[in-house]
Amino acid sequence: MPQVDEFDDEDIRGDAAELDSDSHSPKVYHIQEIPSKGLGVVAAVDFALGDLIIVESPLLLFRPEGPKISSDLQLQSAFDKLEDGKKEAYMKLDNVHPESECPPLVGIFNTNAYDVQESDHADSDDDPPCVAVFNDISRINHSPNTIRLWRASSSAMHISACRAIPAGTELTTYYRDPFLPASERCAALLAIYRFHCACPSCLSPAASDKSRLRLQQSRGRLADLVAWARVAPPSPGLLADTLELLALVQEEGLESQHVYGRVLRHLMCISYVMQMCAEGEEDDVGSNAEAEGYEGYKHMLRAWRLANGAEEVDVRRVELAEEEMMRVAVGRRRTGG
Ligand SMILES: [Zn+2]
Repeated sequence: MPQVDEFDDEDIRGDAAELDSDSHSPKVYHIQEIPSKGLGVVAAVDFALGDLIIVESPLLLFRPEGPKISSDLQLQSAFDKLEDGKKEAYMKLDNVHPESECPPLVGIFNTNAYDVQESDHADSDDDPPCVAVFNDISRINHSPNTIRLWRASSSAMHISACRAIPAGTELTTYYRDPFLPASERCAALLAIYRFHCACPSCLSPAASDKSRLRLQQSRGRLADLVAWARVAPPSPGLLADTLELLALVQEEGLESQHVYGRVLRHLMCISYVMQMCAEGEEDDVGSNAEAEGYEGYKHMLRAWRLANGAEEVDVRRVELAEEEMMRVAVGRRRTGG
């Protein structure tokens, strides 16, 4: 029987896709003024979950070493090596730090840099991050409707939709660990980026913290699919409970996070078993009009996995293994094996 645990979504990230920014012309997004936010990035067309929106190489990329003062020197030396056009583009980026606080070069860096890994298969502990500043992607504001994926092998950042994004919607990404308590997230956003986050979660911190904690605590349960599949047909309660987690992910805007993949995987498997049980005419198999059904969740999960860097061939292999796992588990239950 396939060991589906070995296919945890955090492990199926594949090699770089052969894509470059030239493949997206004319541009499917615009940079424009956003009320009270300065410049931002806006979708020019409709995007669905998983659609690739931007592939961009950084203006500036280096690995900081040592204390802050040597980082500043490194920044200066990395900047000095840039071509004139890139220098000019860099200096045009937003800077929220006044010159009395730090030189513009550093202020722009602190306002616009993302941490990126040097390798696609990096273990974050062993591999301290590099930092990268982008002409377009650094203009994406906070509070995410996209997945941000750094492809070290092609030295490019990929931005994909993590939910449906209608044309005219601002594209957003997360700046800080979304599972920090709201007060810590907001304090960091204020200290580094000088803005008060006005997303629904930060405006209701107590409710948001509770929801995010519940999602984090669901992690183990969402991994354990085999146990219930063997014991009994999934109860309507299990589906309803998992749909509630899905609603929490959506309310909190956490579709870019691994918890979304886990919830989709769970819903896919529950739907598959329910479908099998319905075909076998077992009693007590619930249905829920809000559920997308097996094919619906499989499609969503596939799009999400690909946007998170999995290779198509690996995704198909995992899907087959998951289907087989469910089929075997239900078969064993039926025969009492
Ligand atoms: Zn917020």
